[in-house]
Amino acid sequence: MSPDPLPEVCAVALPIPAGTPFSYRIPTALADRIVPGARVVVPLRGRAVVGIVTGVGEGQGEEDPSAGALKPVFLAPDTVPLLSSAQLSLARWMSSYYAAPPGVALRAMVPGAMWGASHLRVTLRDPAATSSGGAARSVVELLRQKEKPVSARWLRRTLQRPVWDVLQRLARSGTVTIETVPPSLGPGPRVERVVVLARSLPSLLDRDRVFGRARRQREAYETLDQLGGEVALPRLLGELGFSRSVISGLADRGLARIDCRAIDRDPFRSRPSEDPPPTPTPDQARAVAGIQALEPGERAVLFGVTGSGKTLVYLSAIAPEVRAGRGAIVLVPEIALTPQTVARVRGAFGDQVAVLHSGLSDGERVDAWWALARGDKRVVVGARSAVFAPVRDVAAIVVDEEHDPSYKNGEAPRYHARDVARLRGRIEGTRVILGSATPALETWAARETIRVLRLPERATVHPLPPVELVDLRAAPLVAGSGAVPWSEALDAAVTDRLDRGAQVLLLLNRRGFAHYLECSACGAVVECPSCSIALTVHQTPVCLRCHYCGHERAIPATCPECGGATHRTRGVGTQALERWLGERFPTARLARMDADTTSTKWSHARILDAFARGEIDILFGTQMISKGLDFPNVTLVGVVQADTSLHLPDFRASERTFQLVAQVAGRSGRGGQGGVVMVQTRAPDHYALQLAAVHDYEAFADRELEERRRPAYPPHVALINVVASGEHEPEVARTADRLAEWFRGLVETRSLPVDVLGPAPAPLAKLQGRWRWHVLLRSADQGVLGRVLRFAAHRAPGVGRGQVRIAFDRDPVSLL
Ligand code: ADP
Ligand code: ZN
Repeated sequence: MSPDPLPEVCAVALPIPAGTPFSYRIPTALADRIVPGARVVVPLRGRAVVGIVTGVGEGQGEEDPSAGALKPVFLAPDTVPLLSSAQLSLARWMSSYYAAPPGVALRAMVPGAMWGASHLRVTLRDPAATSSGGAARSVVELLRQKEKPVSARWLRRTLQRPVWDVLQRLARSGTVTIETVPPSLGPGPRVERVVVLARSLPSLLDRDRVFGRARRQREAYETLDQLGGEVALPRLLGELGFSRSVISGLADRGLARIDCRAIDRDPFRSRPSEDPPPTPTPDQARAVAGIQALEPGERAVLFGVTGSGKTLVYLSAIAPEVRAGRGAIVLVPEIALTPQTVARVRGAFGDQVAVLHSGLSDGERVDAWWALARGDKRVVVGARSAVFAPVRDVAAIVVDEEHDPSYKNGEAPRYHARDVARLRGRIEGTRVILGSATPALETWAARETIRVLRLPERATVHPLPPVELVDLRAAPLVAGSGAVPWSEALDAAVTDRLDRGAQVLLLLNRRGFAHYLECSACGAVVECPSCSIALTVHQTPVCLRCHYCGHERAIPATCPECGGATHRTRGVGTQALERWLGERFPTARLARMDADTTSTKWSHARILDAFARGEIDILFGTQMISKGLDFPNVTLVGVVQADTSLHLPDFRASERTFQLVAQVAGRSGRGGQGGVVMVQTRAPDHYALQLAAVHDYEAFADRELEERRRPAYPPHVALINVVASGEHEPEVARTADRLAEWFRGLVETRSLPVDVLGPAPAPLAKLQGRWRWHVLLRSADQGVLGRVLRFAAHRAPGVGRGQVRIAFDRDPVSLL
């Protein structure tokens, strides 16, 4: 509130992940480095925190109350700014669109190792100290128990109350000391110990003489010699199996020495790259020309069937630009699942490529960031956050498999990488290419602004495989498979492939959490009359309930469609399938791929590599196996049960099912032996399955866009999913009630064109120990919805307070 102009040129810096920027004084020595986008270390509430400069000399940041005594920037560690002005604009857009604090938006863009707060370390000086006050006593008690310094944050979390005041008092009375541990500015280059041959013994006689009976030392020596005279110590000890004493024996004889060497932390470097692809087909050439003809900032959807060679199109379109020194960003859904795409990009651009993904260590990520920011690397391949990579002069952003839900970030800021790409494209004048065989309906419905480039056929001579729907209500089943639906038809097909030495992919999407009510005779599923999603069976009280609007009804004894008896169903999981396959095909080599088998860093790649090498006969798993894989020896793809995803209580259930079946089907018959697809289902008449079976995306899109009109769902309207979660369900439900009421009040008093649906329990009613309820906001007017969101993020009851967390998810990809 100071009317005086700021006395000095000041920097406005945003401590990550704070809500708002603050003003700081710029020490003369740092003046040249303090520019928008630069990283700084600044004081904030007694701590030293990494921030990003958002402006200079503007003074719009919050000020110290005693104006004129601005605190100085402590440090400006980098010689070049961390973020470009375009990236800062992108952060501002994200913060506003998704209603996330600006610092939270920045946090999503910058590798975690590059920002951080110092923490306060509290040490008890006087173990005999007694303290009268309740809180002070608890602090002293805790410190005594711990017998070592602890962080202030830990004290606050343990005591579940603010401790700053208490600590100040204890420090003043000399009971504790408080030190500031500065933030780390990210790891430096990593070094590795290597063993280097120091002397060579070319003649075998010499070796006999030197080593005598020290056989292992001689083997270690010869191994080193064969491997070029230098081998990483961990490799000698691990993979090659030599002991430490053997290595030091070599060193003692003066034959080897142990050195340190800086290592490159890019783990993809050791993986193969694939050679630049063959010459384009005429369709591919047309698509390449279409991309090159795009205006800066314009978008295109590369709508190409599975196996049509979209990768070659992306690479051919960007190659001339990269050769001319420009950059490119290639986004893939989950990088561990798409090693082939990565290999092809590396094959085309070699050392210019940086690979970013969630499995990287902090150091690897920081290395890649700087390599791109400096311009040493120009192309990035990565999962969703790679859309923020500091690539310079970006010629194109490719979003491969753009329909994939993993492009949406699951925590604040809940951005969608496809939409961020659009904005980045607009800000930087970059072309955006969205590739898919099954584009998201949002993309398809925006064809007025997105150019469509088609690849209607496979690039190779092998046509799309025929798809057979197996009706589980009527088909003969193999006995003894338990809960796993296993038709004689699928059984015979698998047996046949195993006999011929071909490979099989089996998909079972195991989202088996929702019980729905299905007619045993006709397969009809009971839906909500106003939301047209499957109603979910509840136990207490026993009823059917809509997980969008809360509608409830009794469980009907007979099918409303045909009068047949009804039954509750629940999907089976991949583990049950594993047990069954093991029993049924005891000599087949099986591998399961789902979240449980792929928790370690390279486990996906290991499974996929083994499959590619032919060491696995049947690869089965969740949607993970449906993405982008190109294995010519797969001649059978089976979908064990397509219904689990079809009747999920989510308005995208049909679209997801279509995508899943079409994508997984696209893995079959890529080689010379042809291939087929078998889809087991109790709903063979459903349009999503019927149209996936004939590979007709456009007919599906037309039909589904009609279905989404009434009741209205995206892309005709926009949604915000407001999710309340907490450990005590009644409290969560009450919060959701209050939220819904507050939104209804807001919408009515201002006559806003927004529907408020719910509250209702979320379909995934409990996740990681937290109960979940949600309220849906729906409107045809994105602008109004955005304003409601930003207002609610500050004002809605319960936001930022209490035990119940409230999350706002704009443009949600899943309402589960
Ligand atoms: P998509 O991503 O469209 O499903 P891919 O890019 O994986 O398809 O390509 C499918 C297969 O076709 C790959 O094995 C690729 O090497 C091959 N391919 C692509 N373009 C051509 C071409 N012009 N000539 C021959 N083979 C091609
Ligand atoms: Zn409903």
